[in-house]
Amino acid sequence: MRTLVHRPRRLRRSAALRNLVRETQLSVHDFVLPLFVSEKLDERRAISSMPGVFQIPLKQVSDEARKAQDVGLQAVLLFGIPENKDEQASSAYSENGIIQKALRGIKSKCPDLVTITDVCLCEYMSHGHCGVTRIDGDHFHVLNDESVELLVKTALSHAAAGADMVAPSDMMDGRIGAIREALDIAGFDQTGIMSYAAKFASSFYGPFREAAESPPQFGDRRSYQMDFANANEALREVALDIDEGADILMVKPALPYLDILWRVRERFEKPTAVYHVSGEYAMVKSAVIDQNGWPLEYLSRRAFPFDACS
Ligand SMILES: [Zn+2]
Repeated sequence: MRTLVHRPRRLRRSAALRNLVRETQLSVHDFVLPLFVSEKLDERRAISSMPGVFQIPLKQVSDEARKAQDVGLQAVLLFGIPENKDEQASSAYSENGIIQKALRGIKSKCPDLVTITDVCLCEYMSHGHCGVTRIDGDHFHVLNDESVELLVKTALSHAAAGADMVAPSDMMDGRIGAIREALDIAGFDQTGIMSYAAKFASSFYGPFREAAESPPQFGDRRSYQMDFANANEALREVALDIDEGADILMVKPALPYLDILWRVRERFEKPTAVYHVSGEYAMVKSAVIDQNGWPLEYLSRRAFPFDACS
């Protein structure tokens, strides 16, 4: 029998040893909880495609935030469902818009909770696109610079209402730089930007559109969200957002784009986030609930050594 110099299993002998050398630790501090706040509801409403997720009325959002904080979460990401939509998304940047009111409520009850706000126009536009549109015969265009102007107004109004960080999710060109500049001029130099830097067009967003009531009424989002086949372009998008002042870079969706996440992390060494999107969540939930009642632990990687090694 050969004498082995290297025996990697030495460090796997006990739970204590494994804990000692574990390279990746995931804690409650790593998560951000999305909250869907509705101006139209008096009671919470279940989102049928996402079991366990609800639209929350404005009057309950502070309590919901408090509950999140009580279990150790430190950050929430707010999405608004307004009473009124129009073609200028005016309730996105109204001083008394749903997000602005929700922010003030949460900050009065949970001042230490990090509040991040989705900055986009689709929930507030009557047509459901993430920017200002123009129809030319059979074609429609989502106008970039006109949309950026409204996104800047939205980000400023969120900062004024107490957002710690704004998260532009629209994928218009140049919006990070425009928002950074406007925030700084207005005195919000401590308000951060979490950029949806590499956001790919994806069917995985389907259930979210029910949650946020924001499906496009015509066309799709492929003229602004990224082509799912493009990895190098994702790195260029991320580099642009870093140059323009993004503090945190996001890759979205999560599981189908872990290669992109890895490349972004390796190349830029900036704080990096992924959005585990509604379709991914719905898949896990449907496997648990619909498919033979698979226990959730069975689907989680940590459980495999105990349950599925045979
Ligand atoms: Zn949008």
